[in-house]
Amino acid sequence: MNEIKLLDQNTIDKIAAGEVVDRPASIVKELVENSIDAGADAISIEIRNGGMELIRITDNGSGIRRDQISLAFLRHSTSKITDASDISFIHTLGFRGEALSSIAAVSKTQLCTKTANDLTGVIYRINGGKEQSLEDAALPNGTTVIVRDLFYNTPARLKFLKSPQTEAGYISDIVQRIAMSRPDISFKFTSNGSVRLSTSGNGSLKDAIYAIFGRDITANLLDVDDRDENLSVTGFIGKPQIARGNRSFEFFFVNGRYVGDRIIQKALEEAYTGYQMKGTFPFAVLNIAIEPELIDVNVHPSKMEIRFFDSESVFRSIYDIIRKRIIRRESIPDISLGRQESPKEERSEKKPEEKVYIPEPFEINTRKEKAMYPVFREETGYPAERERIAPAVNPLPEKAIQQTWAEIPFVSEAAKPAHRIVGEVFDTYWIVEYQEQMYIIDQHAAHEKVLYERIVKRLQEEHHYSQKLLPALILTLSSREEETLKRYAEEFRKIGFEAEHFGGSEYALSAVPADLFSLDQKLWFTEMLDDLSDVSSQAAPQILTDRIATAACKAAVKGGNILSVQQAQALIDELMTLDNPYNCPHGRPTIVSMSKYELEKKFKRVL
Ligand code: ADP
Ligand code: MG
Repeated sequence: MNEIKLLDQNTIDKIAAGEVVDRPASIVKELVENSIDAGADAISIEIRNGGMELIRITDNGSGIRRDQISLAFLRHSTSKITDASDISFIHTLGFRGEALSSIAAVSKTQLCTKTANDLTGVIYRINGGKEQSLEDAALPNGTTVIVRDLFYNTPARLKFLKSPQTEAGYISDIVQRIAMSRPDISFKFTSNGSVRLSTSGNGSLKDAIYAIFGRDITANLLDVDDRDENLSVTGFIGKPQIARGNRSFEFFFVNGRYVGDRIIQKALEEAYTGYQMKGTFPFAVLNIAIEPELIDVNVHPSKMEIRFFDSESVFRSIYDIIRKRIIRRESIPDISLGRQESPKEERSEKKPEEKVYIPEPFEINTRKEKAMYPVFREETGYPAERERIAPAVNPLPEKAIQQTWAEIPFVSEAAKPAHRIVGEVFDTYWIVEYQEQMYIIDQHAAHEKVLYERIVKRLQEEHHYSQKLLPALILTLSSREEETLKRYAEEFRKIGFEAEHFGGSEYALSAVPADLFSLDQKLWFTEMLDDLSDVSSQAAPQILTDRIATAACKAAVKGGNILSVQQAQALIDELMTLDNPYNCPHGRPTIVSMSKYELEKKFKRVL
């Protein structure tokens, strides 16, 4: 490690200013980055109470010389640059010289360190920025930084923190990212005494991904290793089977630095266009290596943002590399006899409309089955199914004719026998004659509404109708998703989900709501977790209900699917039993009507 020196004012002025120590996770990030910069190949991270009570980072890196320790805790002291021009060629993660001083200012900090050249180590204590002691001690080579009672002297900042579990989740996210950025370093993360993450440091990124995300993710990866004249990309991208409902599993590293970068994100996601369902996001861990002169890392104090000087060609390069990789995979058919759901998922990722599933008694023929009768369709101009249902059926029964003289509303048990289903137009709208009115029912909206009401009712009545999944779906949850799942475990159970901890960050989803069995359950479930993660408990029921509405919408008969008359009848019957059968969960009408009188007017039969 170079000498630690104070930066001159000119250099300080050129460094992106701002506070980096806002929560335990940012402290962990800064300290672990210091350990990496110190050349450590084993780093342990230990926290208690979300890091508010204790953060302890231990490394086997270079250590700090006794005479340099006080200096290291001064603002703008660093061993990593001497002037601003060095930033252009930076190969360390740190360079601002502010982390140790900022951390020491707001906590009770202890540094234990020993260099390989020194015979003894030193324990240094500093509380709220005031030095307490500097003592010799027998220590192993390397550095341990202990941060206790964070923000004890800045109550305003303490108040700003979230629950210990949430803060621990943020820390876990940071540690995961750093562990993936450096598979050659062994990381161990312990929270309240239990080990949450442990990587071997054997250099294999895939092994690190396995340690973090588990078997399901690791089994569905495509390796990326390519370069062009601008940059090189290595790492892994996920097959569409492990697509997510949000971006929480997109990880980008530029020259070893984790970045949340829109250009890379856009290039990655666009490369998946046509290969993965719209609105889903790929799993990706991408290491981008680029000449340091072509980027600016001095954009933001947390250094998680960078600027590419030529962002257009960076986009193009990444897009091309990823796209090529995805296409290469597609042209080689996947013949592995994987888990049961895999073939289904393979199909559905390409043609989302095939995923439409109609529970009993609304079994319908989807577009795909229609396509199985091409000859029929060519001859008649209609698909086979249309032939079956074209004639008007269900003639008005005698008894009902008599009843029409009473004022029985269309939506009522009593009116049901008098409903005459005339048929369907545009594969979507059912025409029902009743009394002097023609009713037009949107089958999609109607089905949406029926599914939605069923589930909402169950939520209220505490009933749940589950469909078992065999085999169970294995989900890999981020720490935040995990926390949300625990918080709303009861609600999920009521809807019909059954999720059990499966070890590590994996959960086994063994049952799903019966009515929504057809959906991509992984996606739906994680989308729901994501939606719930940031809301207060009061807002949660509404969010859940909204999510169910959207899911019901997806699972419902799409306009354009064919129902038989019996299926339509059953659907309309169930619709009629609802408190509000008139609107779909999103508020669109399910039924419109036109009177006989209106028609007669149109045809100038009456004036
Ligand atoms: P920066 O990382 O930007 O240089 P810091 O305030 O984080 O600033 O650290 C100040 C200096 O202390 C570093 O430049 C480095 O020389 C030294 N240092 C900090 N942490 C460690 C560590 N774990 N091992 C060895 N040296 C360290
Ligand atoms: Mg640092």
